[in-house]
Amino acid sequence: MGKPITNITIVGGGTSGWITAAYLNHRLQWGPTANSDVKITLIESPSISIIGVGEATVPTLKGTMKMMGISEAEFIQRTDATFKLGIWFKDWNKDKDGNRIGYLHPFTGGLTIKGHSPGYSFKKYGLPGRNGNVTDQDFVRTISVAREAIENNQAPRALNGPPYGGALQYAYHIDASKLAEFLQDICTKRGVTYIRDDVVDVMKDDRGFIKALKLKERGEWPVELVVDCAGFKGMFINEIMGEPFEYYSDYLLNDRAIPIQIKPTDPMKINSVTTSTALEAGWSWHIPLQNRIGTGYVFSSKFKSDDEALAEFKEHLNGAEMITEPRVIKMRVGRCRKSWVKNVVAMGLSSGFVEPLESTAIMSVELQARWLAATLPSTDFEEPMIEQFNGASARLYDEIRDFLCLHFGLNERDEPYWKAARHDAKKSDGLKHHLELWKYTLPSPLDPRNRAVFSHWSIMCILMGKNFYKNCMLLDTEAVSETMWQNYWNQLTSAKQRVLGRLASHRQLVDAMVSKAVPGASVAKQVDDERLIGDGQLLVNPQPIMAQRAPN
Ligand SMILES: Cc1cc2nc3c(=O)[nH]c(=O)nc-3n(C[C@H](O)[C@H](O)[C@H](O)COP(=O)(O)OP(=O)(O)OC[C@H]3O[C@@H](n4cnc5c(N)ncnc54)[C@H](O)[C@@H]3O)c2cc1C
Repeated sequence: MGKPITNITIVGGGTSGWITAAYLNHRLQWGPTANSDVKITLIESPSISIIGVGEATVPTLKGTMKMMGISEAEFIQRTDATFKLGIWFKDWNKDKDGNRIGYLHPFTGGLTIKGHSPGYSFKKYGLPGRNGNVTDQDFVRTISVAREAIENNQAPRALNGPPYGGALQYAYHIDASKLAEFLQDICTKRGVTYIRDDVVDVMKDDRGFIKALKLKERGEWPVELVVDCAGFKGMFINEIMGEPFEYYSDYLLNDRAIPIQIKPTDPMKINSVTTSTALEAGWSWHIPLQNRIGTGYVFSSKFKSDDEALAEFKEHLNGAEMITEPRVIKMRVGRCRKSWVKNVVAMGLSSGFVEPLESTAIMSVELQARWLAATLPSTDFEEPMIEQFNGASARLYDEIRDFLCLHFGLNERDEPYWKAARHDAKKSDGLKHHLELWKYTLPSPLDPRNRAVFSHWSIMCILMGKNFYKNCMLLDTEAVSETMWQNYWNQLTSAKQRVLGRLASHRQLVDAMVSKAVPGASVAKQVDDERLIGDGQLLVNPQPIMAQRAPN
């Protein structure tokens, strides 16, 4: 066996580079369990700017920030962050009269009925007092308190609730550039070396490993392990190491985005949800921050030219005041065949990108950073460790791709783009198998699919929201008696009302957090308590995006 790796060089100072640096620094150099002599350096070009989009997250980020000892108040203040309780998909489907309808993917899951999935009883009995007047979209409202909290613009907890806590599961909306700056500040104060220079070339040894980077100003920079966070072009993993990029364009049609920032119409009201509105050839995101809204149109260039998309998007914005000029981003959608080759590991956009519909790109970096720390080889670069990382990364991107295919493939719109998404776009064999299975049974932990991030709750909410069960023969052996279902519904309804009554308004909680922020709190070395017995969850395995959570 070789010697422990003693230096890691990250190239790229976007969200990926700094999240990776922060996580590795915490695990290997600075945090309470750090136990190595590794040095971490981040090199960023002074002339190539970061992509500057990527502002909606999923709940894993909360766990990662907390684990890294970052003050939530300081994080919220420095990144203009707000709270996010789920994703609302507007106009993607239709009701029985042909009117466009939306559906919610909430982060707060449902509660079982004595271990039984509530979906079966919901489908069998409908809702008490509604005389059969129930649609499948009512399912999420029934099981998750998030729907009403979102409608009321509420926060996930009470005003005096503990940081990172709350009755509802949540994520954040953040300003991408400010997040990179904030993490840079923390990392450099915690021991990461930061160099502003351009990597212009590399030198390899006879095994084909990179032994040094050539920097424009500083010259040669010897390396042991290179983390490629240099963005969409895949500079190291694809261009230098020659690893192929596998496009998902047969599965997912979108390849362009036009981001724009706009002013909020009512600054006192902040939505606690990301909204994704279906447009003619794609969809538009709406991400509310403290003082501005990030929006944009993700579309397919096969169905709209850039000019046509911009014109449609401006009409959709309906006269909103623009803060930034529109620009067109070409998206590289897919993943590297292998994200780790020899001594180069790609993370973030250089590794893969599955379009932003479910806000999963930052989460993918969080996961890859965990996996890199967990599979860090010696200087012999043991192949099984690399294969482990590559297998996990490939499965992650494929899982996200299949989850997104559910949204697109089960749409009910009539424009040519949406018909193509429904009929022509490819589905993986795994997804096809599950779509057959789910005609008879609800998604369950028994399903044979890989599940790193999306729980069966998430899938059930999407299927119900998209009228999937309209013509299906769902077997109802899992349904409980009608009386038990009614009692469950009554108990759940009162529990939800109790929770909703305690939640602060979103604006109130954000303002309170900002006013509590203490500059520098996130770099103060924390006194670790002496309790070493953890909560049972391994670091490599964060909880799924939509977890079951008890209202109380
Ligand atoms: C339209 C769109 C919307 C998105 N929305 C979301 C979302 O809502 N949620 C989400 O999680 N993700 C989203 N993403 C993805 C998200 O933007 C990225 O995952 C995230 O910003 C990370 O990017 P990155 O750090 O990998 O690359 P970049 O931000 O492109 O950073 C690349 C870095 O590499 C440096 N660099 C490049 N070449 C060199 C060189 N030769 N030498 C030195 N340095 C170099 C640059 O200076 C820069 O610092 C979205 C992406 C797109 C395209």
